Amino acid sequence: MACPPHAIVIPYPAQGHVIPLMEVAHALADRGFNVTFVNTEFNHARVVAAMSNGAGSGLGRIRLVEVPDGMAPGEDRNQLVRLTILMAEFMAPRVEELILRSGEDGACPGKITCMVTDYNVGYWAVDIARRTGIRVGAVWPASAAVMVTLLSFPKLIEDNIIDAEDGSTVGEGTFQLSPDMPVMHSAHLAWNCIGDHDQQATLYRLLVDGVRAMEQCDFVICNSFQDAEPASFKLFPNVLPVGPILTGERSGKAVGHFWQPEDDECMSWLDTQPERSVVYVAFGSFTMFDRRQFEELALGLELSGRPFLWVVRPDIGHGAVHDYPEGFLDRVCGVGGQGKLVSWSPQQRVLAHPAVACFVSHCGWNSTMEGVRNSVPFLAWPYFADQFVNQVYISDVWKVGLKAVADDSGVITKEHIAGRVEELMGDAGMRERVEAMKKAAHQSIQEGGSSHGNFDAFAEAMKNAAPQEVSVQDGGASPGNFHTLADGMKA
Ligand code: UDP
Repeated sequence: MACPPHAIVIPYPAQGHVIPLMEVAHALADRGFNVTFVNTEFNHARVVAAMSNGAGSGLGRIRLVEVPDGMAPGEDRNQLVRLTILMAEFMAPRVEELILRSGEDGACPGKITCMVTDYNVGYWAVDIARRTGIRVGAVWPASAAVMVTLLSFPKLIEDNIIDAEDGSTVGEGTFQLSPDMPVMHSAHLAWNCIGDHDQQATLYRLLVDGVRAMEQCDFVICNSFQDAEPASFKLFPNVLPVGPILTGERSGKAVGHFWQPEDDECMSWLDTQPERSVVYVAFGSFTMFDRRQFEELALGLELSGRPFLWVVRPDIGHGAVHDYPEGFLDRVCGVGGQGKLVSWSPQQRVLAHPAVACFVSHCGWNSTMEGVRNSVPFLAWPYFADQFVNQVYISDVWKVGLKAVADDSGVITKEHIAGRVEELMGDAGMRERVEAMKKAAHQSIQEGGSSHGNFDAFAEAMKNAAPQEVSVQDGGASPGNFHTLADGMKA
C-alpha cells in the first residue's frame, strides 16, 4: 500500500518557532500527511520532557526526530547568531540524510515528499529540498509587516535607510513601506538589536540570505490574517496568510513546549476568579528583566489591586532566585492571595479562560496573535526587535492595547503599570475593537475563511510532486520568485 505524502518540518530552534511549526505539523497531519518534525537534540529533550506528564502529548501522525545543533553541552542556546551558523554545518547533513534515506525500509511513514521549513532556519534547508527534488514551503512565524520589510531590503538600501554592507541604520532610519502601514524604525530590525557589530553584520547577511532562500521556495505562508495586515499582503501578495495559527489550542495534542506548563495550577486558580478580572502577565521565552524592573513590575501588579497570574520563567531574572520586593510573596502570593506565580503556563488555554481580563505582554508575535484570537486587550511592553513593530500594531493600528511607557530613568514604574491596567479594564471601546478582531481572526480560520482556504490549497499543492527540472538560481532576483496559489503548480 502506498504511504501518504510525508512532510519534513523544520522549526528554528527557539520556543516561539517550535510551537507554531508544531501546529503547522498538526494541520498537515489533519490533511493526510505523515510528518517528520526535526528538533535539535537540545530542544527535542526539552519537548519530550515537557510532554512527560501526558498532557498535550498526542502526536498522531507526527514523528519527532532529533539532530545535533553543533553546540557543546551546556553552551548558551540563546546565542542565536552562533546557533544559526552552526546549524548550517551540523544540522544540514543530517536533514539531507533523513530525506535521502526515508522510505528505504518500504514501510510508512515512507519517503519524504516535501519540506516545510521555518524561514529563519536559513538557505541550506531550501537548498537541500531543491537538490533532493522535493517541494518546499517556508513558514514565516512573525508578522507580515516584518516579512515584507525583509523582502524590501533593496528598497531600504536604495532609499538610504540601511547600509548595504551591514544593515546598520543610515540617517534617521525611519521608513514607511506603504501609506497604510505604520512608520517603522531600522533600529528595531532584528540585527540592529544585537548590540555587537560583528554579530549584527552576520545576522544581517543571514537574513538577506533568507530572502534568497525565499525566492527558491514554492510557497511562503505566514502566521497572520488578511484583516490584521491588509497593506502588507497587498505589497507582497505571494506571502500567504494562514493564521492565526492555533498554537496550543488543540486539546490533548503536542504543543512543543520547552517547559512543562503548570496546567492545573493555572486553570484551577483561574476557575476561582471572577469573570474578566485577572491580569495575565507573560513575557515569552527569551525576555530577561533587570532587578529594578522586576521589582517594579511586582509592585505594580500588587498596586493594581487586581488578581494576577504571572509567568516567571526560572531564567527570567537573576538565575534561579528572583529578587521579589520584600514581603511581596507573603503579602500577595499566599493561599487565597491576590496573585499566582507559575514558571510556565498553558498560555493559549489561559488566554481563552473567561476570568482573564488583560494581557501584560512583551508583544512576541505568537503572544500577539494568541491575545487577539481570544479578545484579550494588551498592556504592550516590548523588549526586542519585531516586538516594537507588534506594539505599534496593537496600540496604534488595531487599537486593542495600551503602550507601557518608561519614565526618564528608563523604568516602567509601578504607578504606570497599575494605572494602565485600570485604563484597560475600563475602556469599553478597546473591548469592542478586540472583540471585532477576534471575530475576524476566527472567520479567517473557519472553513470558508481566507487563512483556512490558503492552508488547504497550500497543503494540496505540497502533495504534488516537485517540478522535475529545478534550476537553483543565484540571489539577486527580485523578491517573489515563489508562487501564489493561483500559479503555484506552474513551477
Ligand atoms: N508560552 C506559553 N507559556 C508561557 C509563556 C509563553 O505557552 O508561560 C508560549 C506562548 O503561548 C507562545 C510562545 O510561548 O506561543 C512564545 O512565543 P512569542 O512569539 O510570544 O514570544 P518569544 O518567546 O518568541 O519571545
